[in-house]
Amino acid sequence: MTHGIVRKTCFTTFDGTLSLSTTHQRPDRFSHLELPDTTTHRIPRGGGYSYSASSFGESSLVQEMTCFNRFLEFNPQQATLKLEAGVSLIDLMEWALPRKLYFPVLPGYPLITVGGCVAADVHGKNPYIDGTFADWVNQLTVFHPQKGYQSCSREVNPNLFAMTCGGFGLTGIITDITLQLAELPSPAIALSRKSVHGLEEAQFELASSNADIAYSWHDATAGANFGAGIVYAGHWTESTQQLKPMRFRPMTASTRAKLPLSAWNRVSARIANSAVLLHNRLKNDVSVTGVLDACFPFASNVYFHKLFGKTGLRESQFLVSEENVGQCTQALKELICETSAPTMMLSLKRFKGTQKSLSMSGTGYLVAIDCYRNARTEVFFQRLDQLIVEMGGQINLSKDSRVPPEIAALTVSGITDFKNNLFEYDPQRIMRSELSARLGLL
Ligand SMILES: Cc1cc2nc3c(=O)[nH]c(=O)nc-3n(C[C@H](O)[C@H](O)[C@H](O)COP(=O)(O)OP(=O)(O)OC[C@H]3O[C@@H](n4cnc5c(N)ncnc54)[C@H](O)[C@@H]3O)c2cc1C
Repeated sequence: MTHGIVRKTCFTTFDGTLSLSTTHQRPDRFSHLELPDTTTHRIPRGGGYSYSASSFGESSLVQEMTCFNRFLEFNPQQATLKLEAGVSLIDLMEWALPRKLYFPVLPGYPLITVGGCVAADVHGKNPYIDGTFADWVNQLTVFHPQKGYQSCSREVNPNLFAMTCGGFGLTGIITDITLQLAELPSPAIALSRKSVHGLEEAQFELASSNADIAYSWHDATAGANFGAGIVYAGHWTESTQQLKPMRFRPMTASTRAKLPLSAWNRVSARIANSAVLLHNRLKNDVSVTGVLDACFPFASNVYFHKLFGKTGLRESQFLVSEENVGQCTQALKELICETSAPTMMLSLKRFKGTQKSLSMSGTGYLVAIDCYRNARTEVFFQRLDQLIVEMGGQINLSKDSRVPPEIAALTVSGITDFKNNLFEYDPQRIMRSELSARLGLL
């Protein structure tokens, strides 16, 4: 693509469930970013790894920010780094590691951009210790076609800063970001994998863990094996024996969907999950892994996503309070077994923090569920929505491409304030996506 030129592109969500054609531009300079005028509806895009259609929408110009990928300013005393929004997480980490620094909140795929992480306020491998992405952002520059370039931080223009972190690009295009980096404790991570029989045991393990990386994975197929899983706990280690550099081939929403049909179904899901559990029982329970491999587990392990093929997958993530998590996982187990839901795997993470704008943040346990798609999928998701509402859960708008507006209103506590502030900030609602249209934020 010639960078400033606007053309038609068909975009697809990473889960493969929604596609649409719209105008697309990949600016590589500010004069192109400012095109075409001040009234055209637009939405920024980073790497395109969101499961929901938050970075494209009907009649919105998509401005893909991946050419804005320069490192601008480093303050070694403060360990702060100013960079452009299109820098990928792998480029950030490859810059930081030789300087004995790292960024603590990294979602699972290396080609996700820093701008996309701010806009969805993503989480990493231990949100209980590290919080969410926005907690490590000191300052932003946001371009809005009618307002120009606006600097914001917790001290300067704090309302814009609060709305933009977790605001899914609806306040404007983030052009640069100042991040707070952390000192790298050591070059590798010792990752232990403890087999558990069920979700309750995993929750107990996570609650009593002081690990730097802490999350669990579970078999979520309906039946006797439901909940059997592995709790991952990582600690920094000086040991670098047998460390290999991370290698990966880029996966995008379109390369993920190359298989014409999904290979996942009830039988293949059970076999694969049983194999993972058996392999874990037989394997050494601690292995030393490089920081990048530990942070980006999906870089070298693409089969889980690719086997969903063109049919795609459905994921739901929600945060439920510490008081309700036990009751919630029990009710979830009953729902899955009763409806023979096409669930495949489930994961738990512990969170600590406060809810911000539209992002999934706060205190409690994250429950993530992946499903292959068949006639029962949508029915299961409707029942799951009701369960999340009953449990006072908070839904992740970035990971579920179909959340209906009434469920978002009941499960994202900041949504009403966000909407009021957004309408006051930008009465014409220049920034628009399928997500914002679906949620009534137009
Ligand atoms: C394999 C895989 C693993 C993942 N693991 C995790 C995980 O562990 N934790 C987690 O929280 N998420 C995870 N995610 C989700 C991912 O982190 C988020 O969807 C993230 O927002 C994607 O960023 P992106 O650069 O691809 O942005 P896109 O998907 O292109 O856009 C996402 C949102 O950011 C906005 N945006 C992008 N760039 C800018 C900008 N410059 N200015 C303003 N807004 C902008 C877009 O408008 C859109 O609303 C994972 C996704 C995949 C595919």
